[in-house]
Amino acid sequence: MAVWTRREWLYKAGLGTAACSLIPSLISEEPRAATHTRGNISDQDEIALGNKFAEQLEKEQPIVSNSIIDPYLTKMVQELASKSQRPNMPYHIKLVNTMEVNASSIPGGGLYLNRGLFELVTSEDQLAATLAHEIGHVVGRHAINQLMLSFEAKALLKPVLDNLHKQNGVVEKIILSMGGAVAMLAMLHFSRQDEAQADMLGFYEMLRAGWDPRGFIKMFAMLDKLEKSSGGSHIRFLSDHPPTPERLEAVRREAHVVSIPANARTDSFAFHAAKTALHVLPDPPKPHKPAKKQ
Ligand SMILES: [Zn+2]
Repeated sequence: MAVWTRREWLYKAGLGTAACSLIPSLISEEPRAATHTRGNISDQDEIALGNKFAEQLEKEQPIVSNSIIDPYLTKMVQELASKSQRPNMPYHIKLVNTMEVNASSIPGGGLYLNRGLFELVTSEDQLAATLAHEIGHVVGRHAINQLMLSFEAKALLKPVLDNLHKQNGVVEKIILSMGGAVAMLAMLHFSRQDEAQADMLGFYEMLRAGWDPRGFIKMFAMLDKLEKSSGGSHIRFLSDHPPTPERLEAVRREAHVVSIPANARTDSFAFHAAKTALHVLPDPPKPHKPAKKQ
């Protein structure tokens, strides 16, 4: 038998927001993110691993800078992260010059947005929802926990932890021995629970930072459209983030029971200025193809 929470019962009974405004404890069901990382490693250790991971990742991916786009993305990430449940990590974001549609986060608060995803979004709230979701993964300690597991599985956790704060190249070599940073990131598979939690954490980050969290609904619509138009071609962001009815329903339900200010942000001039600046970026470098045999 399905067990409904009191809030679900009120929602299904059509009492939604009005009932909840009478019962303050029902207004918010923001999930509480875990406060400990697997193996109880400290934030400082997570940040050190994130830095080593970022160094390797940025050797493998074409990072691109732009004087309009970079400050715009940085400001958005700072605003969202400052309203998260883990505001004290050194969040930062870089743009990757590839048309592959993707965004990712790494331990310690590093975020990477692919140009292909920025080209795709049409309003600021879609972008804010995407980045809020990625920040949600950092807040929920999803990537660090998965990475710890990967090192453990290969009996490499001890040398990683022993050398995290040393400049001796040991951790870098271990990352390379496991296929490199991009491949390791691609192998991390978040559970559906992790994804649902990242959505909800992101939803509340957006709400507190002054954006309309219904941007998540628009973001799912965008992913849905992409899924239909991709004709089954493999898009990593879609395989990790399929726009499932459950994700959509969870956000819709949450949007019904919170109070969203009438002036919550959905779009901005700065967003469109940054989108325009994408046109002046150099073309993405062509992926390396193995030389043909004569
Ligand atoms: Zn995700």
